[in-house]
Amino acid sequence: MARIVMKFGGTSVADLDRIRNVARRVKAEADQGHEVAVVVSAMAGVTNQLVGYCQSLSPLFDAREYDTVVSTGEQVTSGLTAIALQELGQDARSWQGWQIAVETDGEHGKARIESIEGDELIERMRQGQIPVVAGFQGIGPDNRVTTLGRGGSDTSAVALAAALKADRCDIYTDVDGVYTTDPRIVPHARKLSRITYEEMLELASVGAKVLQTRSVELAMKERVRVQVLSSFAEGPGTMVVDEEEVVEKEIVAGIAYSRDEAKVTVRRVPDRPGIAAAVFVPLAAANINVDMIVQNVAADGTTDMTFTVGKADMARALQALNQAKAEIGFAEINSDPNVAKISVVGVGMRSHAGVAGTMFKTLAERGINIQAITTSEIKVSVLVAAEYTELAVRALHSAYGLDA
Ligand code: ADP
Ligand code: ASP
Ligand code: MG
Repeated sequence: MARIVMKFGGTSVADLDRIRNVARRVKAEADQGHEVAVVVSAMAGVTNQLVGYCQSLSPLFDAREYDTVVSTGEQVTSGLTAIALQELGQDARSWQGWQIAVETDGEHGKARIESIEGDELIERMRQGQIPVVAGFQGIGPDNRVTTLGRGGSDTSAVALAAALKADRCDIYTDVDGVYTTDPRIVPHARKLSRITYEEMLELASVGAKVLQTRSVELAMKERVRVQVLSSFAEGPGTMVVDEEEVVEKEIVAGIAYSRDEAKVTVRRVPDRPGIAAAVFVPLAAANINVDMIVQNVAADGTTDMTFTVGKADMARALQALNQAKAEIGFAEINSDPNVAKISVVGVGMRSHAGVAGTMFKTLAERGINIQAITTSEIKVSVLVAAEYTELAVRALHSAYGLDA
């Protein structure tokens, strides 16, 4: 007998038939004698709609009220899933974040879980009741509902699995595992039976939305066994595992893309010590994360500084830089939201040279210009024009021999 957390994403609970399907799958695990806790997302599209309501009323909405609004999607599906389970004769009850409690920090809209009280749920699971937990939400130090950032139900599930000392955390979604790249862009992407925590973490952080980055970080830290699998098909999915558990290591595990960043270029700033600080300190003060950075020095002693920020932060970044114009001393600022970041990830890069070279050559052969580059030990990312996203991902997928 095992203790399992089963998490169902938005498409898995998109309508009543799918919620019935979820209830059947959950009951099947319980019928095998396992102790089961369930985490649900909002119905597909609902969170986007709720976010849209807030934005329409006010572009600079109060994040506490945003959380009050967007957390409701999960409240609905937790109740409906509990009802569907009861309808099958299975004892179940819904739990909201504040009832458990899932305690978070106070960063409304992107809160981090600090602790989860698991004893009551464990006791009820022992008695045969299935807790159905509303994902994506918690309660902050201000005693108000918080949400964990988009895709945050994955993190709810992993954190709950850690708190309940579960043997496994199964993430049910609309694909049957983690692929070498997004199977919606490359139809001949290959399903991986295993992927290391590190590779999954890096892939998630550069845009592979199949797991929220924070959920992988937490799984790695708390040693939670995570499996990604389909709620529509039977069969095993992808296990996220330690590096030692992967026998045949590929040099490149996968390719990801992100259209969530925008490019900013600060032109013709004086090339002197302290200039990078003058540009980036005001951005940090405005709580804006900078990702890729490129600096070119011209013969006349000035330099162009190019970097990327989240698309949602672009307007605020330009505002912060313009306010600091006197200290920075730039000639002009250009910005471009029509860019995509394409990344190649694999632990094999540590021991194999040439991964970056293959990437640059492949893109050059397709006539795709590279606007910025960043690397880490197991990743190379490039910034290209957004219109080349699919072409770049497909070409690289073939170039690294990943096609099925
Ligand atoms: P859920 O609502 O179940 O959380 P998401 O939409 O958040 O589902 O995540 C699943 C989606 O992630 C898939 O439909 C797929 O398009 C996308 N995806 C991106 N990269 C990958 C990848 N490498 N492997 C599998 N799916 C991926
Ligand atoms: N419903 C939330 C979202 O769309 C959380 C999740 O689905 O994981 O971001
Ligand atoms: Mg998701």
